[in-house]
Amino acid sequence: MLIAHLPAGYLLADGLSRGRRDRGALIAAGTVSAILPDLDMFWFHLVNGRQNLHHDFLFHWPLFWVALACPLWLMTRGTARACVAVALASLLLHMALDSVAGHIRWLAPFSDWTLNLIEIPARYDWWVWTFMHHWLFAVEVAIVIWAALRAMKKAPGGAPS
Ligand SMILES: [Zn+2]
Repeated sequence: MLIAHLPAGYLLADGLSRGRRDRGALIAAGTVSAILPDLDMFWFHLVNGRQNLHHDFLFHWPLFWVALACPLWLMTRGTARACVAVALASLLLHMALDSVAGHIRWLAPFSDWTLNLIEIPARYDWWVWTFMHHWLFAVEVAIVIWAALRAMKKAPGGAPS
């Protein structure tokens, strides 16, 4: 997934926070969390020398985020606790979206089994170009448009939701 993580996280957080007074905090937590796993791209480029797929790194292990969220959820109350829950949901959505074409190790570190629903054959030298010419990228663009329309509807002067 190239461009849809952030808008997908926004849409999830928007849906989960409906009707809550702390809605802004929950949407922020869900939206920011949606892109946290891809911070491992810095490690991939600056330390790893692009030797391994960044989906193999800790930040793309769903159980890492579950293990982090559980104690945080137990230690918090109210809005902070809800933010932890929405953030975890958003992080797991990131892994689910990456599982479509990205080999996610859902049971790491206990298993090397990966979930990957489709293979995208390399058709161009630059992998980004290959992804952009696959039908999956149209789905990503649709998610971006959906989130943009949703956000505009909520903006001051937008139509009521
Ligand atoms: Zn990712």
